[in-house]
Amino acid sequence: MNISIIGSGHVGLVTGACLAELGHCVVCVDNDEEKIEKLNRGEMPFYEPGLQEIVRFNFLEGRLRFSNSIAEGTRHGEVLFIAVGTPPKPTGEADLSAIERVCREIGANMTGYRVVVEKSTVPVQTGEWVARNLQKYAPTGLTFDVASVPEFLREGSAVHDFKHPDRIVIGVSSDRAAGLLVKIFEPLNAPILLTDIKSAELIKHSANAFLAMKISFINAVAHICEISGADVGKVAKGIGLDSRIGMEFLQPGIGFGGSCFPKDLSGFIAISQQLGYDFQLLKEVENINRLAREWAMSKLLHLLGGSLLGRTIGVLGLSFKPGTDDVRESPALWMIGDLLKMGAGVRACDPVSIENARQILGDSVEYFQDPYEACTGVDALLITTEWSVFRELNLLHLKSVMKTPIVVDGRNLFEPFRMKEIGFQYAGVGRAALGQEVRG
Ligand code: NAD
Repeated sequence: MNISIIGSGHVGLVTGACLAELGHCVVCVDNDEEKIEKLNRGEMPFYEPGLQEIVRFNFLEGRLRFSNSIAEGTRHGEVLFIAVGTPPKPTGEADLSAIERVCREIGANMTGYRVVVEKSTVPVQTGEWVARNLQKYAPTGLTFDVASVPEFLREGSAVHDFKHPDRIVIGVSSDRAAGLLVKIFEPLNAPILLTDIKSAELIKHSANAFLAMKISFINAVAHICEISGADVGKVAKGIGLDSRIGMEFLQPGIGFGGSCFPKDLSGFIAISQQLGYDFQLLKEVENINRLAREWAMSKLLHLLGGSLLGRTIGVLGLSFKPGTDDVRESPALWMIGDLLKMGAGVRACDPVSIENARQILGDSVEYFQDPYEACTGVDALLITTEWSVFRELNLLHLKSVMKTPIVVDGRNLFEPFRMKEIGFQYAGVGRAALGQEVRG
């Protein structure tokens, strides 16, 4: 089938490459000229394990092309996936302006029947608005369908997630669109849930809000563990082994970030408000997430005697999670911002995200590829991203390069007793007696 993807970022490029891999003829469109030039040269615009190989292979096979032109994409694809960004407005609502621009161009360039699919995450009822926008610009007499096929892939394992989804949600309002979309996704051998468009839109917001809620829940429990002397690792295991709850997303830490959870939560809260429901539960999820970072910062302050002025802090991790170079809404960057405001110097390390972080933090931070170098001479170390290279550090060597052996482990990478044995002053999340001390 001829398919076009409008927006060739983390979702669009993976979708395009994987659909080409399934044998479709795909054009990936983006308005970022540099990105398209890079892709045409065989270079990846971002780090995603396994993506470069399938992009190159399908490009050479002639099944995958890249273009700057939505007109070309609209002429080519019978099915058009919109995968542009939907960032938050200052009010928290999803900014749909990129989708609006894309609809205008698709509408104006349609030459026959098209299925226009929302792949971007959008608030419930956006499908109706997309249809109105397309209608406004489409030549009279041309028919089209709007559909919603929300994406559930995770950065860092996006190719695997696309190829092995738990389910595929297809929100449609016509049998014709359903037929085409089922044909595209059937080869993935995953359960397909056919729904109306609004339910599909709501499934995506609800899924992300639920996962964020799990993270905030365990972070709240981590506080209780610290106050009471319990161990959050054991509590998480004890509840996670209940098949109704499950182990995933029960790792306590400095909270969630990334380009999805924070903005999808605020977008869900905003659309709920517009529809007349005050989603207080989700507001508290946001609140607990912010407190998780602040809690780690207060431990650091406590261990450094109440001031960070003139201190140097090593920070391990810049991306919002391991396996990606995406630093959007990364808890690490929020915390580095706070460290700098409090007068500390920062020596940061990340295996793949330094260039992206530099674009935001500039030269206010020193960057290192090597964790030992980042930690050399520091007054304390803050662990912000659970990259496995950090988990495998030689702790004796680490201690020997630091000025003071203080570690605030925002991702619980290390065992408290082992750290103490080596001679670190160590604070994890939800496991150490330090929580009681900081609270006084
Ligand atoms: P991204 O920023 O990586 O990619 C978006 C791309 O769209 C960019 O390359 C941008 O240049 C392009 N673009 C913007 N306006 C355009 C226009 N008018 N014409 C053509 N191209 C345009 O974003 P992403 O992470 O891929 O997210 C896209 C959508 O998918 C968002 O709604 C997001 O919430 C959703 N989503 C993201 C993930 C994820 O893990 N990143 C997972 C599921 C869903």
